[in-house]
Amino acid sequence: MDCPRCSVEMQEITHEDSTLQRCPECGGIWVVDPADLNKMLLHANLPALSTIGGFVNVDEISGMCPACNVDLVVVEGGEKRSLAYDTCESCGGVWIDGDEDEPAAELDWDRANAQVVDFFKRFSKKK
Ligand SMILES: [Zn+2]
Ligand SMILES: [Zn+2]
Repeated sequence: MDCPRCSVEMQEITHEDSTLQRCPECGGIWVVDPADLNKMLLHANLPALSTIGGFVNVDEISGMCPACNVDLVVVEGGEKRSLAYDTCESCGGVWIDGDEDEPAAELDWDRANAQVVDFFKRFSKKK
């Protein structure tokens, strides 16, 4: 699977029966299965993705789903809509941009999980 931003082959990170894909170039993470994402969120005492909500920005041009090759949809949220994630309406996959200038070459599950959870913690703040 290639990164929707840089077209670089992503690395697979697995834990039990969950799978994430991570781009070593930009540090972004692709959550393959929305059920896995909800598991991660509930574990961190956050609401499920459908409850967190957000605002779809149809004007924003985004990348392509690495699984289905359809356009991703941009969903904005967080304080003053300062955050955004991308999602595929076809497979439900979710893309979160990396926020480090020089992302680590490799990431283990715990740190990848923490990156996703931290993003949605900020994303779910409504103001
Ligand atoms: Zn990338
Ligand atoms: Zn898809």
